Amino acid sequence: SERWFEVRTAAVGGEGLYILSFRDLTEARRMDRMRTDFVANASHEMRTPLASLVGFIETIQGPARNDLKAQERFLGIMLDQASRMSRLIDDLLSLSRLEMRAHVAPSGEVDVGAICRHVIDALTPMAGELGVEISLQVPDAPAIVTGDRDELIQVMENLIENACKYGQSGRKVDVAVKMEEGGAIVATVRDYGPGIERQHVPRLTERFYRVDVDSSRAKKGTGLGLAIVKHILTRHRARLVVTSEPGQGSTFGVRFPAPNLG
Ligand code: ADP
Repeated sequence: SERWFEVRTAAVGGEGLYILSFRDLTEARRMDRMRTDFVANASHEMRTPLASLVGFIETIQGPARNDLKAQERFLGIMLDQASRMSRLIDDLLSLSRLEMRAHVAPSGEVDVGAICRHVIDALTPMAGELGVEISLQVPDAPAIVTGDRDELIQVMENLIENACKYGQSGRKVDVAVKMEEGGAIVATVRDYGPGIERQHVPRLTERFYRVDVDSSRAKKGTGLGLAIVKHILTRHRARLVVTSEPGQGSTFGVRFPAPNLG
């Protein structure tokens, strides 16, 4: 990986003496680069459904002007494309709101088990349509962490929804909340689907990274879900731990550190 420096020289007192100063610009360059890539990717992702909308509008105004059957079919596709844009914008807004809050520590008290139960209740109809059954195992005592309820709901929603969508073939998803010896709280989402090959795992939380773009599109993905998860967890000083075995399924775990009692 290359490094970038700004080098300045200043003459000292005209005696042939110079001061050289260096400023490390590597990090700033990297951030710039990421921002540019992000804008390019986001624009590209928006342009695809938009191009398709324009295409269908032109077709309806032109060649399909008198073909009601075709029009009806095209309108269905147009609605899908518009919904896709709308999901993309929602996710982009979530990310930018999270970035604005990145340096503010969350402060509420949240029961992770209750959050999982809430999310599973909301996702059960969707899981049912996919033929997936979701189980939940929680400890007897509430598993309390310091956090933002809505954000943690979003985390579990993204993980459980992914497990149902991508692990559909496994027919079941197991969600469990556990308290570790030292006081850490861990929530895991296990699916029995195709799993994820090792080389993809470290990149899953990158914006717009998808193992298989077509399958993600077909499953109404935006490629931003796990990027949002990572942002939220960083703010909570929690970690995402992914283990996956191709052919056996994946486990996405969220680990909240033990409260610092010092
Ligand atoms: P998307 O909106 O495409 O679902 P995510 O950021 O949520 O985006 O996930 C990124 C990619 O990680 C997905 O496109 C998919 O390829 C892969 N992925 C996520 N969860 C799973 C899972 N449980 N099993 C297999 N692949 C997964």
